[in-house]
Amino acid sequence: MGRLHSSALRLTDRVYRIVKVSARTMSASPPCESPQTQHVQRAKCLFCRICDGLEPSNIVHQDEEFVVFPDIRPAAPHHYLVLTREHITDAKCLTREHIPLVEKMTTLSKEVLVTQGGSPDTARLGFHWPPFHSISHLHLHIIAPESEMGLIGRAMFKSNSFWFVTPEKVIEQLQKKA
Ligand SMILES: [Zn+2]
Ligand SMILES: [Zn+2]
Repeated sequence: MGRLHSSALRLTDRVYRIVKVSARTMSASPPCESPQTQHVQRAKCLFCRICDGLEPSNIVHQDEEFVVFPDIRPAAPHHYLVLTREHITDAKCLTREHIPLVEKMTTLSKEVLVTQGGSPDTARLGFHWPPFHSISHLHLHIIAPESEMGLIGRAMFKSNSFWFVTPEKVIEQLQKKA
């Protein structure tokens, strides 16, 4: 095995351990919000506060349903988060009815990437899969170009791993939900 390859493996292993440890210290994945608890959660949630204009951020797109801004720790030259204005805890809380929402988020992420000068053909897209997320508010990552992602970024945002799932995979799983 080449030296580069084995160091990449070690790094992936390290990220995996970090992800595992943070999942343990994060306590159990928070429950999905009900309409009754939505407003309470909203005041405490950083991403809701950004959507409500209560926290500074560099918003690049907003409409009635979504807000898009750059990731504070970009994994490549283009790295944006598409948030739902509605507080949805995570991808595991989605139901079949949310399929059009996931599709819209995906289309919007690519449109924003283009307006920012990136190319969707080279992008990596995905949602964190619980309990592997730091902020419990549904958001889609779009990162481009993939070729410029570092080793840690590649491991953190590894497509269809235990912790990062592509929109296609999420839709596929939602289609199977009753
Ligand atoms: Zn929120
Ligand atoms: Zn994230």
